Amino acid sequence: MTGLRLEIDLEKIGHNAATLVERAAQRGVSITAVTKAMLGSPELAGVLGAAGVSALGDSRIENIERMRAAGIEQPMLLLRSPVLSQIGRVVESATMSVNSETEVLSALDSAARSAGRVHDVMLMVELGDLREGVMPDQLNETVRHVIGLPSLRLRGIGANLACRFGVEPSSENMGDLSAMVESVETTFGIEIAIVSGGNSANLDWALDSSDLGRINNLRLGESVLLGREPLRRRAISGLHTDAFVLVAEVIESNRKPTAPWGRAAQNSFGETPKTDDRGDIWQTILAVGRQDTDTADLSAPEGVDVLSASSDHLIVQTRERMTPGDEISFEPGYSALLRSMTSPFVTKRL
Ligand SMILES: *Cc1c(COP(=O)(O)O)cnc(C)c1O
Repeated sequence: MTGLRLEIDLEKIGHNAATLVERAAQRGVSITAVTKAMLGSPELAGVLGAAGVSALGDSRIENIERMRAAGIEQPMLLLRSPVLSQIGRVVESATMSVNSETEVLSALDSAARSAGRVHDVMLMVELGDLREGVMPDQLNETVRHVIGLPSLRLRGIGANLACRFGVEPSSENMGDLSAMVESVETTFGIEIAIVSGGNSANLDWALDSSDLGRINNLRLGESVLLGREPLRRRAISGLHTDAFVLVAEVIESNRKPTAPWGRAAQNSFGETPKTDDRGDIWQTILAVGRQDTDTADLSAPEGVDVLSASSDHLIVQTRERMTPGDEISFEPGYSALLRSMTSPFVTKRL
């Protein structure tokens, strides 16, 4: 192991979660806190539970199982449609799952019945960002299918925006979601308890809009962990944006020219980087690379400029020579955080 590590301040995350829970509660909105960026860390789950979130959400059943194995008892929502080969595990560990396919719903129903359980369902509706969800004109048909399955309970209807195309939540698309929920309720004579408007990208809308319609839940990951809203990556007032710090170690620091010499073709990643000649600089190499994190998504401290990265080297410009063993700390964005959490080469220090 090198000194490469992710330092995680759970108190700051707890503060972020509690602040968002309180702000949302004033608007009648519950928070499902999303744990996937931390691989379902049980320590994180404990902190989120203490902050008053109504449920935990994760996109991978493995992460949900990890939290269950650690004794976390909160309701847990599987955020990605169940993979057919994992249906039994979904019914076993997740309280509820997001769904949009009738085959998957039928398989969940059979698995729930064999396990002697009832599994809760959140049906996802497409609102224009073109990721998961049934098309609005298929919603009634899918609802009819779920209602006919005795071991499933239709608890929620949800939508997800701003992931693929960055489509923003608005009074129009959120109004459409509320109208669909009401139409389902009158058509089938049922009540939809949870209407989950979206992810961290919905926060501004949910806290500012004069009329939330039927939206009464959000699923929040990035805003809780990094204190930023993801549409423009602005810091959210009153939240910590530095709960995660990635610390890497210097392995070389040398006075070198900025422009390469010799004839240049493609680099190791198939790129042909632009060169510019800015004279000699202090070129410092850190023992962290693309294998460990998304090096393009790191914020460097004052006086350090990220120049480029290979699999194992991050090349930065520093103001002066650094000594091997010196450390530099970066603030990871969401993508950098995800990658460094999953790298076995990055030590996690809570
Ligand atoms: C990851 C995920 C979220 C959380 O998104 P953030 O932008 O991190 O708040 C919410 N819903 C679904 C379906 C997800 O996959």
